[in-house]
Amino acid sequence: MSEEGLAGRVVVDGQPLPPLDQLIACHECDLLMHHPHLGEEEKASCPRCGYELVVHRSHMRRRSLALVLTALLLFIPANFLPIISLNLLGQNAVDTVWSGVIGLYHLDMKGVAFVVFMCSMLVPLVKLLCQLAVLLSMPYASLRPLGVQLYRAYNHLREWGMLEVYLFGILVSIVKLSGMAELHLGVGLACFVGMMLAQIWLEVTMSPHQVWDALSEEEGDHART
Ligand SMILES: [Zn+2]
Repeated sequence: MSEEGLAGRVVVDGQPLPPLDQLIACHECDLLMHHPHLGEEEKASCPRCGYELVVHRSHMRRRSLALVLTALLLFIPANFLPIISLNLLGQNAVDTVWSGVIGLYHLDMKGVAFVVFMCSMLVPLVKLLCQLAVLLSMPYASLRPLGVQLYRAYNHLREWGMLEVYLFGILVSIVKLSGMAELHLGVGLACFVGMMLAQIWLEVTMSPHQVWDALSEEEGDHART
């Protein structure tokens, strides 16, 4: 093994590659490239397949914190305030996400109630709390290992939050019911849509590359977020 090899450098066909932290591999086509140095709001794409490699958001931590707090504030009204109120033959019914879960449970559809509760309430809440904890841990070296664990957990949970599917279900029922009964859209629906938009914006703002960089900075090295 050469001296470069001992120092952590990869040797291919006798030619040493630059240190690994100066290289980046495309997630889509595995092309290995030099790590691009980006300015504020710049992004780099793979020259072979066009996949977005890295993007540098300015004030990423502050902007993400604002969005995660907005989404958390909207979480309670989105789930516990009326989404639609229904007037059918003089009978009034008010529906919230939570009353939907309880209703399914009492209709002996416990499995469905559990899945709806998981995907529309529990997982989105845990995801937001993970993101909040990750953002709060960034400036503190002693908390960053916990931040790394929580960010890994967040990445596993991403597939389980299905707010978009839930919203689509609500819209389909609104269209179907509108011919049969008098419908009033509730403030819960506005909060639900607001929470979803805040989460989508958060996904765009919280650039994974910058998050991992901030979480792996050495002590006294924190200056970028
Ligand atoms: Zn590529």
